Amino acid sequence: MFQDDLLIWYEKNARKLEFREKKDAYSIWISEIMAQQTRIEAMLPYYHRFIKELPDMKALSECDDEKLNKLWQGLGYYSRARNLKKCAITCMEQYDGKLPQTKEELIKLPGIGPYTAGAIASIAYDEKVSCVDGNVIRVFSRLYDIELQINTKTKKQIEKLVDASLPEKKFISHYNQSLMELGALICIPQNPKCDLCPIQNHCLAFKRKRQNELPILKKKKERRIEEKHFFVYVYKDSIHLEKRDNKGLLAGLYGFDEKEIFVPLKITPLKEYTHVFSHVEWKMKGDCIFVSKKDIHFYTTKEIEESYAIPSAFQPFYKQVKEIIENERKNCD
Ligand code: SF4
Repeated sequence: MFQDDLLIWYEKNARKLEFREKKDAYSIWISEIMAQQTRIEAMLPYYHRFIKELPDMKALSECDDEKLNKLWQGLGYYSRARNLKKCAITCMEQYDGKLPQTKEELIKLPGIGPYTAGAIASIAYDEKVSCVDGNVIRVFSRLYDIELQINTKTKKQIEKLVDASLPEKKFISHYNQSLMELGALICIPQNPKCDLCPIQNHCLAFKRKRQNELPILKKKKERRIEEKHFFVYVYKDSIHLEKRDNKGLLAGLYGFDEKEIFVPLKITPLKEYTHVFSHVEWKMKGDCIFVSKKDIHFYTTKEIEESYAIPSAFQPFYKQVKEIIENERKNCD
């Protein structure tokens, strides 16, 4: 049995993460959603800013959408932020402003999948349930030398193995966290640090020298390439922002125009770049276009930086245009 070795290692080596130590369901929930597709160290500044501004369920449920997007800026996948608010509203209406205490109930809420539900229920409420994410799947694939490709069926089989490994209730919070930590720090995707691994003696893949071959993942689909051309309209020191459709990539967020809508005074081509989403790549071309009149959707860079979330897909253009505006201003002075 590897659990004791893992728990002893965890007590000595766990990173001090305040949201997990506090056993506060709201903090655990926010941090787990933020940590999806983002390393914990990278998401910590966002987490602290978010909790300071929206310290509880009520504040989140009442938060203005622009403010929420601004707090989420830099983390990507903005639908996660929208789901957080939807979930907060449901909790205010149906659960007295709290997150329910069981995995079964949590999983019914917007944006909460089995992993997050398991993490909240086990870490905050000590419910004896698993939370299986990519890290845990990797650890178990190696521990049991699972040669099968990871798909829905094998994931279910691994979940059963994890469920069977759960210790008694009083250790559940630390056990689940220890698996997460092992996957994040030691049993990493490439070149796992087996020499430092507390469960090396139990690991079948290590014994058979197959740790680098596992898990066998499905080949990712090739990303679709889309050619894009954006027009960044500038009036004096203000930039035109366009709210995007409520469907598709970057839905409902602010970005630059894809149509020619103003008569140009002066056009400066912007440096091209590629922005990579999970399943699409945008080949970005753009122009900075000075215009002679403006409408209500022009905002100063100060206003944008204080109140509007510019998705990272548009940041390289935004930075270039900001520099152009500053140079124009200097030339005029
Ligand atoms: Fe992962 Fe290596 Fe530990 Fe096995 S021995 S669980 S492969 S780090």
